[in-house]
Amino acid sequence: MKIEQIKRGVIGCTRCELYKTRTHAVPGSGNPCADIVFVGEAPGRSEDLHGEPFVGAAGNILSTALEKAGMTRSDVYITNVVKCRPPDNRVPLQEERAACQAHLREEIKAINPKIICVMGNTAFHSLLGGSSIMKFRGNVFSSRGRLYFVSLHPAAAIYNQKLVNVLEDDMQSLSGILKGIKNGDDIHIDYKAAL
Ligand code: SF4
Repeated sequence: MKIEQIKRGVIGCTRCELYKTRTHAVPGSGNPCADIVFVGEAPGRSEDLHGEPFVGAAGNILSTALEKAGMTRSDVYITNVVKCRPPDNRVPLQEERAACQAHLREEIKAINPKIICVMGNTAFHSLLGGSSIMKFRGNVFSSRGRLYFVSLHPAAAIYNQKLVNVLEDDMQSLSGILKGIKNGDDIHIDYKAAL
């Protein structure tokens, strides 16, 4: 399935109750041939208003971290575990994540990235069954033939300069790992996920 087709599917989706309260569904955005797909939790207020992922304060932090690591937003593809904003920015429910999983699966299949960057606990749990993101961030996981890099969600760094630095360090590491993959180097896998 082509990425434009997937976007249309997201925009018209009514598979879970979140469609009733959204302003816009927020499909992923970016380079459809990206080497890295970033996966966050869910759209926030700005994203819901604009129909674009990571356009608010968290998005700015991520963009800066990418640029400092020699990457730009147009190089990568950015999406979320659920594509519609949960009311009051609550964490998406298990049934909402399950309903939206097919969209994410289609995006990843269409783009076929070299590595997926999982941002924050919700994405970590949804994609790799993990928890305690700050314990595992900066590590590479492999699961079902794909490579994953784990980092914090940029929203966690909005009022915390220390976490901005951590995110920027992680993006530097990710950039180095991607170069290694492209060079055909052996990539050190920290964890093989059970999922
Ligand atoms: Fe559909 Fe996902 Fe939006 Fe639910 S969150 S309505 S499954 S696009």
